[in-house]
Amino acid sequence: MPVSVQHRHYFTIQQRETLQGLLDQRGAQLREAIAAALRATGNEQAAGLANHLEETDDEPVADLESAIEIAALEREVRELRAIESAQRRLHEPDFGLCEDCAAEIPYARLSANPTATRCIGCQAQRERGSEASPRL
Ligand SMILES: [Zn+2]
Repeated sequence: MPVSVQHRHYFTIQQRETLQGLLDQRGAQLREAIAAALRATGNEQAAGLANHLEETDDEPVADLESAIEIAALEREVRELRAIESAQRRLHEPDFGLCEDCAAEIPYARLSANPTATRCIGCQAQRERGSEASPRL
C-alpha cells in the first residue's frame, strides 16, 4: 500500500509557515550581526564576506566557518548554519521527526526552537557529557 510521502507531513501548512517566518527572521538577524562583526574586524576578507552575506539572502554560509575564524562569531555562524539547514528541511516529509528516534517533535518545541532536530529526550541525552547547555 504505497503511501505518498506527502502524507507523512504532520504539521499543518500554517504551522510550517510560522516556523519558516521564525527561521527567516532569526536568519536575517544573524546575517546582520555577523556582517557587522566581520566589518568591525577591519579585515579585508572579512569585509568582503560581510558584503556578500548582506547582498545574497540565499547564499549558504557553509564556507564561512573555514574562511574565517573569529571565535566571537562561532556561535552565530553555527546558529545560522542550523537555521539554513532547518529552512531546507522544513518542507521535507520528515521535518519535525527526531533524527535519533524518529518520534514527532512537538510543535511547541519547534516554535520555541525551530532548529531542533531531536526530541527533548534524545537532545538531553546528546548534551549530557557535552559542553553545550540544554535548549528547549
Ligand atoms: Zn528522539
